[in-house]
Amino acid sequence: MADDTGHREGNGAKAGQDNDRDTIIKNRLKDGSIKLYELEKEFTPADAVRVRRGYIEQETGTKLDKIGTFSIDIERVVKRNCENMIGTVQVPVGVAGPVRVNGGFAQGDYWLPLATTEGALIASVNRGCNAITKAGGAEVRILHDGMTRAPVFATESVAHAARVCDWVKEHRNELKTAAESTTSHGKLTDIVTFVAGTSVYVRLEFDTKDAMGMNMVTIASAKVADLISQATSARLIALSGNMCADKKPAAINGIMGRGRSVVAGVALSNELISKVFKTDAKSLVEVNYRKNLVGSARAGAMGFNAHAANVVAAMFIACGQDAAHAIDGSTCITTIDLTDTGVYVAVTLPSLPVGTVGGGTGVDTQAECLRILGVAGGGTPPGTNAKKLGEIIGAAVLAGELSLLGALAAQHLARAHQQLGRG
Ligand code: NAP
Repeated sequence: MADDTGHREGNGAKAGQDNDRDTIIKNRLKDGSIKLYELEKEFTPADAVRVRRGYIEQETGTKLDKIGTFSIDIERVVKRNCENMIGTVQVPVGVAGPVRVNGGFAQGDYWLPLATTEGALIASVNRGCNAITKAGGAEVRILHDGMTRAPVFATESVAHAARVCDWVKEHRNELKTAAESTTSHGKLTDIVTFVAGTSVYVRLEFDTKDAMGMNMVTIASAKVADLISQATSARLIALSGNMCADKKPAAINGIMGRGRSVVAGVALSNELISKVFKTDAKSLVEVNYRKNLVGSARAGAMGFNAHAANVVAAMFIACGQDAAHAIDGSTCITTIDLTDTGVYVAVTLPSLPVGTVGGGTGVDTQAECLRILGVAGGGTPPGTNAKKLGEIIGAAVLAGELSLLGALAAQHLARAHQQLGRG
């Protein structure tokens, strides 16, 4: 463990010099002659984090020795993932599984790393994994794959807006070449325009291979937006016009897809339902119908599921994904069909932005979680690792849905939380 408390053993003189320097810097922070975010210019990343934390301890009268003890290498993190870093917050990570996945990309039995503080969540997912594996595995497919960015332009009139849309349609190849000149991996796969009065939204969709792709597509979209602006005199207002739609629950993502669109399903026999969930097929169907479908509709919800975001968030945090994208997981639709032999349970996740390169995927502990799943780094060919991760998360969500619906159907939910989730 890299102890980040600052002072090296057996080097008293050096520790004393460090203390003096720290005091000088803290005084400069106080008088504003150096900014908190400028510490990396004067210190190594480890020392900058230690000095910044010391300053915050002093300013707030709060001891931060737990935040200051961590195992990750921060050289890369302070440059790419976290500004004004003072340490880390540790989220417990547990495993569920193994879950058998019969996917287009993920094939085999997987241990799922889940980072959470919600007691009973992992136990619940584990039970779902058990049922899926006993049933022969989850069928999982990627139905669509495309990360989006939608710049918004202001035009002078609705006629001008219509002309901008026409121009974009006619110059698709030129825009594609410009976008792809900014990246060696990304491919522009679709352009759709939308108009609202004098505002024009150009929704650009990219195959981002193994990257989740938000930075990649934002850089590429800037190039496209410049071309559109120059050629049509439409004024670029914002590179993100919220029709992307990033980190907001939005019907457009549910309908058109965003990131990896994943579907996962499993057939459960009457015998298995009774053995694992202590309930029956009809009860499962009725809970799903009245809760996930009718209840969600009555509530005006964007998602029709039991707790898909729980599993998405826990897998995302463990695997270095952008945690804010758990919002996309909440738009999952869970369906249960009654069959001659039991039920067919499926989850449809239209918008799962995942990647195995870039973003937080390189942070040491998160990279270890990706390695548990065999998906760390770029795939061969590029794109296959991220699709595999999407499929595994799809199966994990299916396990979570199955288990919670099973507990509700058997009236076991409150009991499980009482036993597992409370101190
Ligand atoms: P990134 O770390 O910015 O870039 C990933 C880069 O890795 C790609 O652009 C690509 O470079 C390279 N790469 C190497 N091997 C690859 C492979 N096999 N497949 C695909 N790319 C490969 O990550 P990102 O995925 O574009 O963006 C994720 C980050 O964006 C996260 O930290 C997220 O929090 C943040 N984010 C940004 C915005 C925004 O508006 N900018 C919004 C939401 C989230 P080349 O392009 O040169 O090929």
